[in-house]
Amino acid sequence: VPELPEVEGYRALAEERALGRRIAAVNTPDPWYLKRGLDAAGAADALVGRPLVGARRRGKLMLLDLGAPSARPGSTPELVLGMHFGMSGRLLVDGQASVDRLLYSPAVDPTRHDRFSMVFDDGGKLVMRDPRRLGGVLLDPDEDRLGPDALHATLGEVRAALGGSTVALKARLLDQARIAGIGNLIADEVLWRAALAPARPCSSLTSADVRRLHRHLLTGLADLIRGGGSHTGELQPERRPGGTCPRDRAELSRAVVGGRTTWWCPRHQH
Ligand SMILES: [Zn+2]
Repeated sequence: VPELPEVEGYRALAEERALGRRIAAVNTPDPWYLKRGLDAAGAADALVGRPLVGARRRGKLMLLDLGAPSARPGSTPELVLGMHFGMSGRLLVDGQASVDRLLYSPAVDPTRHDRFSMVFDDGGKLVMRDPRRLGGVLLDPDEDRLGPDALHATLGEVRAALGGSTVALKARLLDQARIAGIGNLIADEVLWRAALAPARPCSSLTSADVRRLHRHLLTGLADLIRGGGSHTGELQPERRPGGTCPRDRAELSRAVVGGRTTWWCPRHQH
């Protein structure tokens, strides 16, 4: 599942390989993939002729900034294309992916899962490939419906996201409007590192707890990005019946917290 670390990889790929290139055509073979009233003609109208001038990310939402048709790279964006990757979306630029972990049967032509692509005037392309088609693209997304991005969140932003609420800590971390980009695996990994129990009410955290959470959120995300994705956490191999804590070997507990299957160590997470 593309979570923040994967989407950050897509963003870096787009920044490195697609920035400054101009859109010559848009392919939209799957109308379902166009969201918020966008259709094939509207997408072509809005995008063709524009250069990519920025590649940003907020949580799991990727944002491509597009300049005016006459603009040069680095100029002020005029339009933003939002990309959601759903459960299985990937980004490819000129046939190259940032992560190659989703495997396809050799009998299946992977391009049949191409949902949206932009052809550049130099002949290369940027493609969204999504077998389960739960992602989508939209113009000018409302970025402020999302909380601050988890990878760049300040201590004050994390404290504000928790907001002294009686809601379970993990449920609040998964709430994208409070803080953007934390998925199920990331939440369990970060709470395990920070020695905090997932079902604990936010309001019970001390200042020291919040500081520890903030520190492990940033370092945990950096480690997952470096490792190649949200499934590369230390807790990940133990998320199974009989799994034990990599730190103290206590048997992990499992419950549903915030609507999601949650694993944690009853010995050191409090
Ligand atoms: Zn433990």
